[in-house]
Amino acid sequence: MNTSHYIGGRWVEGQGSDCINVNEPALGLPFAELMAASVAQVDQAVNAARQALTTWKRVSSQARAAYLRGFAEQLGQRREELIALQMRNNGKPRHEAEIDLDDAIATFAYYADLTEQLPSKNREVPLAAPGFTARTRLEPVGVVGLIVPWNFPLVTSAWKLAPALAAGCTVVLKPSEVTPLIELAYGQIADSLGLPAGVLNIVNGKAETGAALSSHNGLDKLSFTGSNSVGSLVMRSASAQCRPVTLELGGKSAIVVFDDCDPDQAVQWIVAGITWNAGQMCSATSRLLVQEGIADTLLPRLQAALQKLRVGNPLAEDVDMGPLTSQAQWLKVASYFATAREEGLHCLAGGQALDREGWFVSPTLYTDVPKDSRLWSEEIFGPVLCARRFATEEQAIAEANDSRFGLVATVCCADLARAERVADALEVGHVWINSIQAVFVETSWGGTKGSGIGRELGPWGLSAYQSVKHVTRCLG
Ligand code: NAD
Repeated sequence: MNTSHYIGGRWVEGQGSDCINVNEPALGLPFAELMAASVAQVDQAVNAARQALTTWKRVSSQARAAYLRGFAEQLGQRREELIALQMRNNGKPRHEAEIDLDDAIATFAYYADLTEQLPSKNREVPLAAPGFTARTRLEPVGVVGLIVPWNFPLVTSAWKLAPALAAGCTVVLKPSEVTPLIELAYGQIADSLGLPAGVLNIVNGKAETGAALSSHNGLDKLSFTGSNSVGSLVMRSASAQCRPVTLELGGKSAIVVFDDCDPDQAVQWIVAGITWNAGQMCSATSRLLVQEGIADTLLPRLQAALQKLRVGNPLAEDVDMGPLTSQAQWLKVASYFATAREEGLHCLAGGQALDREGWFVSPTLYTDVPKDSRLWSEEIFGPVLCARRFATEEQAIAEANDSRFGLVATVCCADLARAERVADALEVGHVWINSIQAVFVETSWGGTKGSGIGRELGPWGLSAYQSVKHVTRCLG
């Protein structure tokens, strides 16, 4: 049994009642287990973060930047180990695990740079009124709870940890019970860098641990990434205490393909948008809107591309797509296949769980899906693509926006004026034009409507952990 919680600068064993199995999804078998943190341990972690806050917020921004650079460097030094663990526990193909690690490294490096620029943001405010001066101070929000899911564990945690530490906040991180090992690296790195005890705490656990953290009255803010159902509970806890909350939730994003596209190029963007991480992406472009003039050319090529993908165990085979990460997710996706059969949807590719060990499903394409189908409107979180045809630009925009979610979208269009016009009209947080889903640390991440509240990454990600204060002085 590992010591799998990092509280107040010490590694401790969990004293909660839940035993967490850590699984290898390609085999469908556990390879480690640990005990969850108890409610009392969550309390200790929040108290440790509170005690550390007074000192940490006074640490110079240069010193904080040095710690963040240390995180980036040590992640790089542990490259092979962290890639292997993501491949084993998440089922990610090697190239995807590498990109996740590089993203986490880039995030710490970016916020190190931004931390160094902080003093210049604390500046005089020009006032129209004579006789007064005013200055801005950007202060840390305080003690922050961070709750994250399992699909991009290194990345999602880096997007919260790096800006929170940069801003001068102290944190309690709760990783997902599906991938509880990988983020322990952040605690180990904090240890080896000599980060002051209590600045970063990690408690592992299931819903009970998460609820103990999100409802703890010692937090100043909670930042959550995960499902809408849990996000709603987290928001309720925050509202009970009138406390700010950032929510990064689900999506049902559209990819819009216009007639003037190169169909082979469009197929690559569509396939990447639905099969990366086996479709377990909040940003999966799972609704394909294809213009009538290109549909009959594009759909058979898309079918062939999906059927050609190599699906298998990333540790044993050269694969394009791994398994789903958990049995629960596998059962959920399989239930959507059953619904599709009941609804009589037209299946052009896949549509079934694979008959082999582990939690595999085939990349799937349903065409001419009715708007009232559950598969068209609900987040499936697997490699399941639903397609519909459209005639006009206006119709494409209206159908893309007709969703309770608003996370991202992709526009594939040779006419760049049209592409930019459509991008501007889409009610989402991020649009890609003629691209795979390239995410840069300088741009923001987050959604509109049911996809959440707030933004991560870029300067907006740092602002999420800062409180604005003004000091106004009368000169007379
Ligand atoms: P989830 O909501 O089930 O779990 C997320 C986290 O919340 C986990 O750490 C879990 O242990 C914890 N939790 C569970 N019950 C809790 C409770 N009652 N109180 C507090 N915490 C609790 O989500 P998941 O299955 O891990 O992740 C998949 C979801 O995450 C999808 O909906 C996906 O779209 C979303 N997601 C969103 C983004 C984004 O940036 N918008 C990124 C990744 C994933």
